[in-house]
Amino acid sequence: MKLKLDYVDKYYDNIKVLDQLKLSVENIKVLALIGPSGSGKSTLLRLIAGLETFESGNIELNNQAIDKVNLADYRKHIGFVFQDHNLFNHLSVIDNICLVMEKVHHRKHSEAKKEVEALLTKFGLIDHKNKHPHQISGGQSQRVSIVRALAIQPEVILLDEPTSSLDPVLTFEVLKSIETLVEDKKDVILVTHEIGFAKEVADYIVYMEEGKIIEHGHADILARPQTEKLRVFLDKVLTFH
Ligand code: ADP
Ligand code: MG
Repeated sequence: MKLKLDYVDKYYDNIKVLDQLKLSVENIKVLALIGPSGSGKSTLLRLIAGLETFESGNIELNNQAIDKVNLADYRKHIGFVFQDHNLFNHLSVIDNICLVMEKVHHRKHSEAKKEVEALLTKFGLIDHKNKHPHQISGGQSQRVSIVRALAIQPEVILLDEPTSSLDPVLTFEVLKSIETLVEDKKDVILVTHEIGFAKEVADYIVYMEEGKIIEHGHADILARPQTEKLRVFLDKVLTFH
């Protein structure tokens, strides 16, 4: 993917939450956004997804400036997985995924179903296809959300702390599913606290604090941070690992 941020500012109620973000990367497969709570990671992800507006600056994803695109069309090419899965509780696993393909992408039910079954098999979820979200675990729900994001064949998949509400075993399952995405050559932007995982799968790291990009670079900055701020952050998150 190619991502360009040009002096992006975002305010909530007159409070600046993103401050002059500047970044230009290309030929990146997996970009990890890290940083303490409240640093603006989710906000930035929502801006990239075209889910929210911003006050000034430019964002370009794969050469599309998002203030110039038709947002409804643009969003069709972005898969989004939120912190807590947001599946419809009244629909089965398979219908949750087929719904998006049929309603947003106008796919035929029979075709959509076939594709979704293949994906569920690949992600080890086929035995759960007729269950409802409350009948599966949190980790399985997150994996269904990942399959749903993937089913629309997006250009880029954005994941916002997909493991933050999960215990370590379920976290492992979800991280495995993200690895499957990456092996599938999908472009991914991932907000995560899983620094070890970021080290393994991400080829680019962006570290944010208080609405600013403090440090960014190839994944080896996690081993050799250049700023005191990133070094202190890594010391804290890795202390009990
Ligand atoms: P992170 O994902 O890094 O934890 P967020 O992007 O969620 O950070 O939040 C960045 C800042 O913006 C925080 O100070 C947060 O309180 C504020 N914020 C986020 N969403 C909203 C909102 N919808 N309304 C007002 N303030 C918000
Ligand atoms: Mg967040």
